Amino acid sequence: MRAARLFGPADLRVVDLPVPVPGPGEVLVRVHAYAPYGTDVGVYLNRGARYVSEYPVGVGADFSGTLAAIGEGVSGFTVGERVAALALDHCGVCSNCAGGRTNLCLDSAFAVPVRQACCEDYAIVAARKLAAVPDGVGFEDAAMLAGIVDALNAFDKMGLAPGDHVAVVGVGAMGLGAIATARALDLNVVAVGGSGARADLAAQLGASRVFPIKAHDEDLAGYVRSQFPGGCAAVMETTASAWGMRQAFAIAAPGGIVALTGGGELPVSSWAVVDRELRIVGVRAGTGQAEAMRLIADGKLDLKPSIGARFTLEQAPEAFALLTSDAARDIGRVIITMDAGA
Ligand SMILES: [Zn+2]
Repeated sequence: MRAARLFGPADLRVVDLPVPVPGPGEVLVRVHAYAPYGTDVGVYLNRGARYVSEYPVGVGADFSGTLAAIGEGVSGFTVGERVAALALDHCGVCSNCAGGRTNLCLDSAFAVPVRQACCEDYAIVAARKLAAVPDGVGFEDAAMLAGIVDALNAFDKMGLAPGDHVAVVGVGAMGLGAIATARALDLNVVAVGGSGARADLAAQLGASRVFPIKAHDEDLAGYVRSQFPGGCAAVMETTASAWGMRQAFAIAAPGGIVALTGGGELPVSSWAVVDRELRIVGVRAGTGQAEAMRLIADGKLDLKPSIGARFTLEQAPEAFALLTSDAARDIGRVIITMDAGA
């Protein structure tokens, strides 16, 4: 089979490898569509040397396909079934997993995400991670669930109800997914950040207002606050950057809540949190694949307008070169399709 492998930072090649055989509890998925997002770009560049310790290594996490083979002890799935999978894995038996909070598995073996790879013809996946893809949801849709489940988790944690307002900081893969999800849930959403075509996409996906940046690292919070003098009651930060977190905390209203999805040191003092009685909530991916696909199947959520470029597996190196270039800010999502070949 063909498989994209990183041989070093930004050194991605498509190589020929044997089709793997699923072990106990695993399945083999014929991959159809894969949608890279920010973490994949981090892996590609090995940003901060924190993603890859040994090469060569595969890439990709958010994908869809059809079941090609089923390992020992796997029940509830049939070969040929359409499925999707995300990055996080879990034990399936601890009290958090039993309660449906599989993204907060208590087993230390899953505290650090087990590396998934899907930019290849066939991917091995733990069967417990699979979600069935219903009719009405295409392979491309089902390969873009990550930003949606993150947003569903964040909005649930923030206690948002239809008609509520939320500000989404960042218009990358997760930000665009969050904006579309907010609209699907009848939330009023504004987008903070982005430039060029990505800012237009944010509006197209349902942001009632977009506050684009004119220059890298521009401080937008002052302007946003001038438009919303009381501040924003709910803020979801999606960039995992120092810039994004600064904006998120600066625009949060007294009594507001800020959902974080990653990043480094908090750019806010304890006194600032106390004085505004801010609530801070961490969002570690999410468990709402079924709900995400229901929203897509019902026609409430459509991320297809956000797809800015499609590549074949052979073109994966070009896809990642684009995602790490300045041109990335003018395209939306990238889809890599595993077409012919085995
Ligand atoms: Zn568990």
